[in-house]
Amino acid sequence: MRQSRRIYLKDLPIGGGAPISIQTMTKVPTYDFQALISEVETLISAGADVIRVAVKFPGDVESLRRLLKSFPEGRFVADIHFNHKLAVEVIRLGVAGVRLNPGNISDPVKIKEILKAKDDYNPDLVIRIGVNSGSIPEDLRAKPLPEAMVESALRYISILEDRHFFNLKVSLKASDVPATVMANRLFRERSDYPLHLGVTATGDYLSGIVKSSLGIGALLLDGIGDTMRVSLTAPSIEEVRIGKKILSALNLGGEVNIISCPTCGRCFVDIKPLVEELRRIVDSDPKRFSGIRKLAIMGCEVNGPGEAGDADVGVACGKGWALIFSRGKVLRRVRSDDIINALIEEVDRLSRRGDGASRIG
Ligand code: SF4
Repeated sequence: MRQSRRIYLKDLPIGGGAPISIQTMTKVPTYDFQALISEVETLISAGADVIRVAVKFPGDVESLRRLLKSFPEGRFVADIHFNHKLAVEVIRLGVAGVRLNPGNISDPVKIKEILKAKDDYNPDLVIRIGVNSGSIPEDLRAKPLPEAMVESALRYISILEDRHFFNLKVSLKASDVPATVMANRLFRERSDYPLHLGVTATGDYLSGIVKSSLGIGALLLDGIGDTMRVSLTAPSIEEVRIGKKILSALNLGGEVNIISCPTCGRCFVDIKPLVEELRRIVDSDPKRFSGIRKLAIMGCEVNGPGEAGDADVGVACGKGWALIFSRGKVLRRVRSDDIINALIEEVDRLSRRGDGASRIG
């Protein structure tokens, strides 16, 4: 498996072993500047690394101009379809990246105009070649979907490379999970450009989480993928949250991994509210937990001590009491109603000792 090459979207390294970055896309009408800025603020505080904005109307360009002024450090990508003139306009504004769809902007003359704008106004521009199963170029539609997607991307890459443009990344998204995974695997055999992962048009919220986790997760476990977006028919902040959970589940960063047992007849403590409270505390003050990778709440002594002992801080419950563990050592016994307090106390103790940061890797 070839490692991808490194590119930069402003200050953000993508590919070449850089941490997997999380992207999302705004969902309010782009021309509604107040709504746009409020969604963007929410996404930035939720930890989105890259925010994509649809640009379809002239009013969208004006809104994007104001957005770039309001967030000069923001990493924004303009999503352009059909109208290459819009790409030229946003490149003039200095947007960090544009996403082009080979299915609807493929005329080499138009691509040349886009690259001319890049040369004149925005030499560090990144282009994402965003291939989507719903817009495969006409002449490739007879081929099996993964092959058609890869060929569409490779064809576009050679148009850009012929014009000495290499600052690009590629996405190959289908609504079908196996097709998405196959297309990305096939692409990685044939090219080392960074890959932006995602499954598209994923359906209802829960199906969206399952499909995205399977598609993105399978690829990340193969070592494929450099950025990702979890596409959900849900608010964009959910896409960021689920993205972080996928990374955390694969030990690739993301958020603090809270593990808890499913509970069974051996459990004498109501674990669900404890887990929810812990999640709320962690999410409300992520800095307090910097350096903490794994917290555990386990229902009994069967798997409890093993799992809780493996965590930075964990708890294994008994009847009316619980044992607090930290990195393999039993620390103390607490009453059941003091579990969360005790757990947080131990997190703070690790932070004070400066042990937390040593686990970040
Ligand atoms: S840790 Fe104990 S309570 Fe939890 S599922 Fe396993 S056996 Fe049941």
